[in-house]
Amino acid sequence: MHSYVVPHAVPSVAVFGEDRRFPVRRIYCVGFNYAEHNREMGRDPTAEPPIFFSKPADALLADGADLPYPPRTKNLHYEAELVVAIGKAGSRLAVADALGHVYGYAVGNDYTRRDLQVAAKDKGRPWDTAKGFDGSAGIAPIHPAAHVGHLRSGRLWLTVNGAERQSADLAHMIWDVPAIIAELSTYIELRPGDLIYTGTPAGVGPLRPGDVVVAGIDGLGTLSHRIVGDQTL
Ligand code: MN
Repeated sequence: MHSYVVPHAVPSVAVFGEDRRFPVRRIYCVGFNYAEHNREMGRDPTAEPPIFFSKPADALLADGADLPYPPRTKNLHYEAELVVAIGKAGSRLAVADALGHVYGYAVGNDYTRRDLQVAAKDKGRPWDTAKGFDGSAGIAPIHPAAHVGHLRSGRLWLTVNGAERQSADLAHMIWDVPAIIAELSTYIELRPGDLIYTGTPAGVGPLRPGDVVVAGIDGLGTLSHRIVGDQTL
């Protein structure tokens, strides 16, 4: 084995009901995957297909952790999402074979500096600083598909300080999970340890220091974070 000049830990996610953790290799995300959300973002849901972007693997934020309000933004947003954990490698996968590559599912929150994302869109610039900051990839423990099956429908919701902000059904995704996996696998080889955030429904909005944000999906439990610290530009 090599030794490293500056060693760091492999990012990982808890697995529900197991001592073993899921080691994370890459985090992919789908944008614009629910028609009602596309409308609230000013995008024609029928004109363009969803898109992919990514976050650093060490941007993960476990259930129950505090999220420090990130710097350089005035508009931190929540985005409740279903997360797919990949357990088997594959590229150029057929839709019919895609679910065989899924290890499990989790509740996620794709935290976003919305002001930076809007500015990046306007100027045709990358989304990295809008989407890839520390703690931006909220994730609850992964439920293995061997236990919960494959999720084709079910309620996805989010509350801020107990008030409902998002409520939708997983069945309303534009690209469903098999389609996402098949499409993404035409761009890159999926490997065990990859996570895919599958997009958020309508109702996205801001968070402020002191807020408690809870997301949930039928059968997968909940994901809770408190926003701490101060807004500092
Ligand atoms: Mn998202």
